[in-house]
Order: sequence, then structure tokens, then C-alpha cells
Amino acid sequence: MDGGKKVWVPHAHDGFKLGRIVDIGSDDITIEPFDAPGTAIHSVYDRTFPAEEYDNKDVDDNCGLMYLNEATLLHNLRIRYLKNQIYTYTANILIAVNPYFEMPDLYATQTVKKYNGKSLGTMPPHVFAIADKAYRDMKVTKHSQSVIVSGESGAGKTESTKYILKYLTESWGTGSSNIEQRILESNPLLEAFGNAKTVRNNNSSRFGKFIEIHFDGKCYVNGGFISHYLLEKSRVCTQSKEERNYHIFYRLCAGAPDQLRQKLSLAPPDKFRYLMRGCTQYFCNRQTDKQLAADRKSQQYLKDGSLHDPKLDDMNDFKTCDLAMTHLGISDEDKLSIYTLVAAVLHLGNLEFEENVDDAKGGCKINGPSEKTLGICSGLLSLDKEELRESLITRVMQTSKGGSKGTLIKVPLKIGEASSARDALAKTIYSKLFDYIVSRVNQAIPFSQSMSFIGLLDIAGFEYFQVNSFEQFCINYCNEKLQQFFNTRILKEEQDLYEKEGLGVKKIQWTDNQDCIELIENKKMGIFDLLDEESKLPAPKYDHFTMEVHNRNKNHFRLSLPRKSKLKSHRDVRDEEGFLIRHFAGAVVYHTNQFLDKNNDALHASLHFLIQDSNNTLLKKMFEGTQVSTGKLNFISVGSKFRSQLVILMEKLKATEDVTLLRTPTLLVKGTNFIRCIKPNLKMVDHLFEGGQILSQLECAGMNAVLDLMQQGYPSRTQFLELYNMYKKFMPSDLIRLDPRLFCKALFKALGLDDNDFKFGLTKVFFRPGKFAEFDQIMKSDP
Ligand code: ADP
Ligand code: MG
Repeated sequence: MDGGKKVWVPHAHDGFKLGRIVDIGSDDITIEPFDAPGTAIHSVYDRTFPAEEYDNKDVDDNCGLMYLNEATLLHNLRIRYLKNQIYTYTANILIAVNPYFEMPDLYATQTVKKYNGKSLGTMPPHVFAIADKAYRDMKVTKHSQSVIVSGESGAGKTESTKYILKYLTESWGTGSSNIEQRILESNPLLEAFGNAKTVRNNNSSRFGKFIEIHFDGKCYVNGGFISHYLLEKSRVCTQSKEERNYHIFYRLCAGAPDQLRQKLSLAPPDKFRYLMRGCTQYFCNRQTDKQLAADRKSQQYLKDGSLHDPKLDDMNDFKTCDLAMTHLGISDEDKLSIYTLVAAVLHLGNLEFEENVDDAKGGCKINGPSEKTLGICSGLLSLDKEELRESLITRVMQTSKGGSKGTLIKVPLKIGEASSARDALAKTIYSKLFDYIVSRVNQAIPFSQSMSFIGLLDIAGFEYFQVNSFEQFCINYCNEKLQQFFNTRILKEEQDLYEKEGLGVKKIQWTDNQDCIELIENKKMGIFDLLDEESKLPAPKYDHFTMEVHNRNKNHFRLSLPRKSKLKSHRDVRDEEGFLIRHFAGAVVYHTNQFLDKNNDALHASLHFLIQDSNNTLLKKMFEGTQVSTGKLNFISVGSKFRSQLVILMEKLKATEDVTLLRTPTLLVKGTNFIRCIKPNLKMVDHLFEGGQILSQLECAGMNAVLDLMQQGYPSRTQFLELYNMYKKFMPSDLIRLDPRLFCKALFKALGLDDNDFKFGLTKVFFRPGKFAEFDQIMKSDP
């Protein structure tokens, strides 16, 4: 780095700012930014990066940059994005920046055709190119492939996944069966039940999914299979400010035909408490019944974004979702059962309790106005009204005397406890209904024979909010696992490429996050196991659990106490109880006060027994085979279930790599492809590139790790022909006559370049970090 050189220095809003070095100190560098001449910015050495020569020249693949670093990568994305080129490669990783406007040509059928059978890099970067690569690799190796799509909420994961599905089904559907049509139709249905409006995304998936597209021996689409993970159950009962519950609730309220509406006692959304929790402006401020009645009449609720989003057409979407069910072979009778349970959940939410003054034990009862609702609920759930009442306000427990099992007794519940039991029932019904919907989708897309599949993973990326709870803990754990997998794959790919090109490079080292994974999943000491242990204690307490986590993992590099210095009151201290984990993408503080609750999937035994006695066949079926515990221990671990699901997923992902390599050792097969989706701005608008927060997304996507890894090898690479065309004008004619590879060899020799700085491969020359730029400078200054 010399004086006068053009460099990037960190900038909070833009990510990096461009300027020229004016002074080089012992601790930092002073630069004069181009957009503010006469001013100075001081920057530390390891955050100051060399800039490319041309400010507006972009490259399809970041590896084609002369200087590959965080700043040049970000800048390359920026100039491309502003030209509506939303896709960019970094080697084989596709970075996709959400355009936030429709680009029909980019995804048109003609475009699909253009990408068919083309090698990666021969066409402009695109999700289609990744889909095609996965398909071609599968065809050649006869083994499964996968595409992992990641990114934060609203970054475009689900849309990208849908485009890949479109690409695969349009290109290799059989046409004779409508299986590919059904695979596509599964989306509106799953989204109706599993997506919701959040502050980050109007159509946010609140579950993770892995879609397998199965192909027959001739490589035509033969069927599919969907696995789903971690549906956000809490949303059924509460939503954050300005957010909504799952789409289906509003759609049913808005779109149900009259007869159905009457049958299910449906009403506008503002009548249901479970739909009102995200309300801010309107209804929450208007308390009187008279006002509410008037507002309802004038359909005022349509004005509250948390009840009705102007961008979402609930009425029409109901029709789409209903039609999708028809196409997936769900009969009218089954649809009615599904809608009935959706309505039952809504009505359950309206049940309220009050103190039972006649009960000496401090129990509660259903309050007067809720009597009618109780009747509706029992009707919809096909339960006896009195039994439902009883099960909501009491719980059965088994007494234990001297170690032997005693008799079953009924314990009255307090208002708060009964309300939680009601919410637990609603959440359980809804999440089981979601399981059922997924199972119906899978029934509709069966594969009769499968040679191999292409798996698409659409799951939330690493996340950290103001307050992080069990959900973030699970998703970040999952991302640690995926990151480790990503690192191994990318590392391997790089090394495979070096091998294929015959570079003879020694092994690259990188920092593993295994220690973080172990902190979470180790037997006994790991956070998940400690949480389950706590839940099995007679009186589980979150602060005891938190203490155990710290005590059992003393001095663990990845774990700390959260800083409490910022807390203002005693109350906050309780709420802030938790731990800090140093994840690969940054440190996250987890608040543990709800960990125990959120990790427990069990219903009160009384409710469970009740449901198993229901005359509603769907409800009964959904609860078949679930364990009921009547002892003191009323616990089904959410964490354990997720962990075993992840084990299966990781096995599938890993199988897509290893098997292929075993069978065809000479072929360069990459079983997994990565798409990193980026949200360009928080406003969710087009043509706005907020560099600062994009930079942190790139970090969360593990791109810094990729750059680190590349720095150890040969990050810049260029085709011989490209170099030849670039420099032939400076060369004498006898050199120009050589073929491009020899030309480059002769040129490098003549310039006396250090052999350690570059390697000649079969098709490309590879440079050590920054060395290509040096070479380029020599060429231009001293031709
Ligand atoms: P995620 O699944 O990552 O949370 P989505 O895929 O739901 O995000 O995308 C959020 C929104 O961004 C979409 O509803 C759509 O409006 C917009 N979007 C995403 N990808 C594209 C794209 N390729 N073209 C146009 N709009 C897009
Ligand atoms: Mg999504």
C-alpha cells in the first residue's frame, strides 16, 4: 500500500468508502475520500482494502477481480445491482440480491431454454444456471444433488427456490402426467398455512423446508417429497407489532362462501383475538363495543395493516389456495375438515376465563360472554362441551406415594394457567394441521421410481434481533451446522479445482466452528441436553438452567455471560438472564426466560385425552401416536425433535457429496450448490443498495470465511485467452504467434515473476492474493 493508492475504508452506512491514501502511519492509514476532498478518514490496516482500477467495471464472478476482498466484492455487487444484474458468482457460489421488483424476462420460458445444458459461467449468472448445473451433475453421476438457499428474512430464498422448481419442472417435466404441476401448486398451499406478514417480509415463511424433486432413470421429473422444520407456533396466539398471523386465517375470514362462513361462525378478523395481537393503530385504541360495531360495519378493519394488508388480497388468495387443494386431490369433505380446524383455533382464542369465587382452591371458570364461544369450539372440534370446559380449567395429575404410582387427580387451574392451556391447545392443533397439510402435499406428489433427486433447502439464515429466544437459538444452531458443511464443501471445491487444473497446491487450513456446535449439542454438557434435563426436574426454572449452562461450560471460548451493564431496572435483569454465544457470524445474546416453555411440545394430559376422544376424524387422526404423559413429567422436547430432523437432513446433504465421489472417483462432482440471498435494504424497495447492512449479511452468509479461505490459495484466476487478449497489444509479434498458454508462460518468464505468486493450470492461470494486480501494473507501466 503506497501513498496515493486508491483504497476502500470502512463506512457505517455504505459499508466502504473510496479514497486515496494521503498518509501512512504506524497504526493507521489516512485517506482522503473522493466524495469529500479536503477531509480525512483514519482507518486501521486490516480494514483498509485495495480498490480495483476501474470504478464502474463489474465482473460476473468475484474471482475475476484483481483484488478480491470484502470491499471489492461489495462494490462489484453494487454496480451490478444498479444495472439490474442481481446475480453474481464467487467461484461456484451464487449471490442473489433481491431486486424487489418484477423482472419477468429474467425468468421467462425463453430464458429457461437459454440456460438448458450450458456450463456454469458460459451464460450470465442466474439461479437457472445453478439449477442446470445440479441437473447436469445429477445426470452424469446418477447421484442426488442439492441446492442450499440461505439468507435473512426477505432476502429472496423462497422466491429463488420457486424459480429453481420452475426451471426443473419446465425443463424436465414429462408433460404427460401433471406431477410437475402439482409440485408447483404445493407452494400456494404451504404458504397459506406456513407464511405470514412480518415487518421484514409481507410473505415470510415461518418454517424451513427441504424439497426433493425426484427423477426417474431417464432423468425426467417423477415426483417429490417435502420435509419441514420448526414451524413458528407462537405466532398462532401472538404476533409482534404490525405483524399478522398465518395467511390462512385472514383468507378464510375474507373468502369463505356464505354457507361455510355460517357453518364455521366466521366473522371479520377484528373479531378474533388471535388476529388482533399485532394491531397498533386502530382497534387496540378503540375499546367500546359501540365503536367497534360501527367500525366493523364500515369495514374499518381493512385500514389496519396488521389485520389487512393492502398488498395482500385475502379474498382472492383464498380462492387460489382452495383451488390448489383441489388440484392436489384434497376432496371437498377434507377441505371442510381443514377449514373447520382453522376456525376452531380462531374461536379458541376468544375463550376467556375468570376467577371462580366458589372454588376454595383458587381455580377459574369460563366467563359469561365466552359461553357461546365454548359451544362453537366444542361443536367445531366435535367434543362434548362440558368435557372441553373441564379439561381447560383443570389438569389431571398422577399422585405418587413412596415411589409407587398413585391415583389420577384433577387439579384446578388459575386464570393464567388455563389461558396458557388454551393457547397450547390452539398451537398444537395448528401445528399438527400444518404437518397434515404437508403430508397431503406429499401424497399428491408421490414418486413411483427414483433414480436420484435434487434437494432444495429453503431455511432461515443466521439471525439476531433485539431480543433472541429459543427460535433464534435453534435456527442459529442449524446455521452453524450448515456453515460447517459449507466450509468443507467450498474448501473441497477449491482444492478439487486446483487438483483438476494440476496446480499441486498443499492443503488449505481454515477455522472450524466445531467447538460452537459442540457447546450446543454435546451430550450432558451441551445446551440442548441441559435444557431437557432442566425440564425433567420437579420444578424447572429458567435461571437455574442458565446457571447450569455457564457452570458446566466454564471458560468455553464460545460462551459468555451477557453484559448487564446497560440494564436500567431490576426487572430488566430478570428478563435479560441468559447467555452470549460467539457464532461464526457474530455474537448473539439469548434471553432464556422462555426457553423451557418453548422447548416443550406437550399438552396437558387432560386436553390430550379429550382430543383423542373427539368425533372429528381429522383431529383424531392428527393426534394418533403422540405420547401422553400423566405423571409429573409433562414434557416433549422440541429441541430433540429438531436435532434429529437435522441429523437426517445433514445425512442427506452429505450423501449427495460422498457417494458421488466414491462411485466416480475421476469425475469432479460437486453435490451441493449454494445460493446466498441478500436483502438490499430494510425498506423493501427497488434500486436501493444499503452497503453497510449488506456487508453484515455477507458475513452471516459465511462469505468472509470464503474470502479467508481463498486468500490462502489462489483467489484470482483468469483464462489464458483473456490474458492474451488483454496484453497482446503490448507484445512483440513473435510472442503473439504463440498459443495463449505459451504466450502467458513466456510473458511471465520475461517479466521475471516470482514462481510462488502464480500457478499455471490447464485452462487458467491462478494468482496469489494481490499478485495479479501487481503483474497488471508492471505490464502497463513498463510494456
Ligand atoms: P425469504 O424467503 O428469504 O424470506 P422471499 O423469497 O419471500 O424472502 O422474498 C421476499 C419478497 O421479495 C418477495 O415477496 C418478492 O416481493 C421479493 N422478491 C424476492 N426475490 C425476488 C425476485 N427474484 N424478483 C422479484 N422480487 C423478488
Ligand atoms: Mg421464505
